[in-house]
Amino acid sequence: MRIDIITIHPKLLISPFEHSILKRAQQKKLVNVNIINLRNYANTKHKNTDDYAFGGGAGMVMMIEPIDNCIKALKADNHYDEIIYLSPDGEKLNQSVANQLSLCKNIILLCGHYKGVDERVRQHLITREISIGDYVLTGGELAAAVVADSIIRLLPGVLNDETSALNDSFQDGLVAPPVYTRPAEYNGWQVPEVLLSGNEKVIDDWRHQQSLNRTKIRRPDLLQ
Ligand code: SAM
Repeated sequence: MRIDIITIHPKLLISPFEHSILKRAQQKKLVNVNIINLRNYANTKHKNTDDYAFGGGAGMVMMIEPIDNCIKALKADNHYDEIIYLSPDGEKLNQSVANQLSLCKNIILLCGHYKGVDERVRQHLITREISIGDYVLTGGELAAAVVADSIIRLLPGVLNDETSALNDSFQDGLVAPPVYTRPAEYNGWQVPEVLLSGNEKVIDDWRHQQSLNRTKIRRPDLLQ
């Protein structure tokens, strides 16, 4: 899979992809993440990517021309399944959206800044809009990293044990069961006996029951 992230702050996106599972996924060539500096597609002498809002008011607006130039250049070399603008009023990211996107071959993530992008970008250049929650971030970079992370860990071969992602919260409409590791007793706090039994079937049943109980308490909406 190829994920191209368009940004005016490329350095903000270096660290999230240089560690742990996301780093290994790239090393194993299971995903190709490209951070693209939008300023390289600006035509003006000072490489401007934003301008004052028509009609006045506080805050700059990201111009359509550099974004169009950038997307056109990327499309000349690749076919994209989705061109996604990160936006607080977009479709809310959840596990089902991440699952869908993990089936794509190539996607673009466009990060906004300031008051956002010229509305014509949203009308004509992108195919989808995604929000990571009902709050406003300074820019789309952290949101793009969240979206990319949620997708990459689902790609076949990325996790050492692929069943691990299937047992995560939301995959089966439930939240995950509690997990424990050594020591079996700490400060008198015991690990549930069943997990030490070695009986896979009994452990699976216990975990399922725990998931169900937790979902009822923490996320009853998932059961409706
Ligand atoms: N004026 C916009 C509004 O009220 O909807 C907010 C713009 S925000 C300061 C700048 C950029 O951050 C947005 O263009 C978007 O790319 C990104 N962003 C902010 N919050 C986000 C969220 N919750 N999910 C995804 N992207 C977000």
